[in-house]
Amino acid sequence: MPVLFVGHGNPMNAIERNEFHRSWQELGGRLPKPKAVLCISAHWETRGVCITATGKPETIHDFYGFPKALFDVQYPVPGDADLAHRISGLISSTNVGLDQGRGLDHGAWSVLAPMYPAADIPVVQLSLDTSQPGRFHYALARELAPLREEGILILGSGNMVHNLRLFSFHDPQPLPWAAECDATLRRRIQAREHDLLKDYVTLGPNARLAVPTPEHYFPLLYALALQEDAEPASIFNDRVISALSMTSVLIGA
Ligand code: ZN
Repeated sequence: MPVLFVGHGNPMNAIERNEFHRSWQELGGRLPKPKAVLCISAHWETRGVCITATGKPETIHDFYGFPKALFDVQYPVPGDADLAHRISGLISSTNVGLDQGRGLDHGAWSVLAPMYPAADIPVVQLSLDTSQPGRFHYALARELAPLREEGILILGSGNMVHNLRLFSFHDPQPLPWAAECDATLRRRIQAREHDLLKDYVTLGPNARLAVPTPEHYFPLLYALALQEDAEPASIFNDRVISALSMTSVLIGA
């Protein structure tokens, strides 16, 4: 099964028929149909690592100030408690707690609803312990490799350059430092420079602008860590909007 990192961007991408929404629809139709999805989203940060283990995860509308149509979106996929339990056993680098109450945040459903509109593929979410460094996330992600053999799609959902404080809704022109960091990251991904990518401070003086907080960057590491030696990484949606990069990576397809 291929592995994905998707730049999710604005939650409205879930319902707007724009280029990003269409690319997610197209991916869902093109990739082999997964048995289940394991999503690592920027929008579930915890101390310690948790995994959703509910049978019916609710659709969490974890944002403010958007139209009612977005709050009306429901993505009623099943969860998979057995899978959650198994993943927790598969990971030995840290303890993974089972969360019986948590649903799916918009980092997961805004991308998955366009990809799999029938809502018939079970989804579990693994949280991000953002107190841990990149190498922790990379090492943890490598332990997930057996899931690919079972037909489980591993989806990292974030934005590799993400600065909402400097983001402008009025002017989509890429800010120069954002475009530069995005280009550096794309180059490193294609050159497989994973050691550099594990630590975003290697982006240099603009690292603090591109990655002011790590939660939107770390999901990228979950996809990269699962790249096998012979596998290509294809970049898509490589667009920088103001201070946010939508650049996405498909590995192994
Ligand atoms: Zn986000």
